[in-house]
Amino acid sequence: MIKRFIRRVLGLADEQMQRVARGEHGLARAAISPTAAKVCAVLREAGFQAYVVGGAVRDLLLAIVPKDFDIATDARPEQVKPLFRRALIIGRRFRLVHVMMGAETVEVSTFRAADPDTAEKDEHGRVLRDNVFGTQAEDARRRDFTVNALYYDPATEEVVDFHGGLADLKRRVLRVIGEPETRYREDPVRMLRAVRLAAKLGLTLDPATREPIRRLAPLMERVPPARLFDEMLKLLLSGHASACLRQLREVGLHKGLLPLLDVILEQPLGERFVTLALAQTDERVLAERPVSPAFLFAALLWHEVLAAWKARAARGERAIFALENAMDEVLDTQCAKLAITRKLTATMREIWSMQPRFELRSGSRPYRLVESPRFRMAYDFLALRAASGEVPAELEAWWRTFHAADAETRKAMLLPETGPRKRRRRRRRKKQPAAPAATPA
Ligand code: ATP
Ligand code: MG
Repeated sequence: MIKRFIRRVLGLADEQMQRVARGEHGLARAAISPTAAKVCAVLREAGFQAYVVGGAVRDLLLAIVPKDFDIATDARPEQVKPLFRRALIIGRRFRLVHVMMGAETVEVSTFRAADPDTAEKDEHGRVLRDNVFGTQAEDARRRDFTVNALYYDPATEEVVDFHGGLADLKRRVLRVIGEPETRYREDPVRMLRAVRLAAKLGLTLDPATREPIRRLAPLMERVPPARLFDEMLKLLLSGHASACLRQLREVGLHKGLLPLLDVILEQPLGERFVTLALAQTDERVLAERPVSPAFLFAALLWHEVLAAWKARAARGERAIFALENAMDEVLDTQCAKLAITRKLTATMREIWSMQPRFELRSGSRPYRLVESPRFRMAYDFLALRAASGEVPAELEAWWRTFHAADAETRKAMLLPETGPRKRRRRRRRKKQPAAPAATPA
């Protein structure tokens, strides 16, 4: 503490750069992707510094296969580009270089400073712009967590550590660089990242890193929706969505983040449904099977839709309109906060609006439904509803059998035509809404 104070008074940076030899961290050059290693070598030959940085170093040290390799250098983008045959300068706010070799692309960014005193901020301390080049020490300081600020030099096999990230990895702790409250105010998304990374990496949040989150959770409201959507998607598709959600609740970040989570997680059937959906998604992600974000969001919002649908039906709205309106209502609220893309909402609507059609098992309707291009997705959704106890297991079993059956079996399975005919005859009577059959009691 005193040492730190003296360093401050003397105007010295309070971090200590450490170069840690391979013997101490164990990360061998061979673990780096050949493309990333090559890019570093080229930069070095041209007289620049070049390190693998961020998530890749962290993951490798934890024996996790990294998603991608990012490189940090003291070369400016316009100095990097001519060194490679296929390279593109991208980004307007902060320019970086994409270097392509074979099928792989690595991102090369120039050391960047985020001077908290000069950066433009909003009235809550959120940084709006930080785009000046800087030293490696400054680059490390602007990163979010100590374990994300490790630089690996493939030439020497050393790890450069400014903030004790290696020690934190050993202790399995996720710790914010600098003063947590300030760092969360600069960028509230860091709170979400803390939860996601802790769950993904199996790290615990350092007490000081964890403490301010509950208090600062309302700052999430100021994050631009598109950014929030990206982060939520990362979280939900991380393969650890269930663990993340549990953590979000524990640290008090679920409130207001996705309006749906507030309500849903408080009602047993909704919670069961969401838990099942997330567990299924995690399983698929970890087995490297494809996951549909639309399906996932449709699942997350389903009990909101159900509640709105039921309320409207109870007020006398006709069933199909009630459902349409309920979908609009829910998507409007959610999109304001999350910028769910149009393509996604279109699919979500399809999944939802097909659900009442599973109740109709007579005449030609079941044939039309199984032929629909979205049948598989809608059926999977029905299966989830059945598994959570929202609809009878028998309904799901019927559709599973019907889908696989031959023509004769299908015909024998159809239920007698009753409801709809009667309804047609008594046209003037108010229609019996289908909603209550599909909604929980
Ligand atoms: P993942 O495994 O999900 O890719 P990551 O840590 O690599 O995790 P990225 O979004 O790829 O996450 O970010 C790369 C690096 O950029 C991080 O390791 C961190 O050093 C830095 N970084 C990312 N987001 C922030 C942020 N909001 N604030 C400060 N630094 C950040
Ligand atoms: Mg990354």
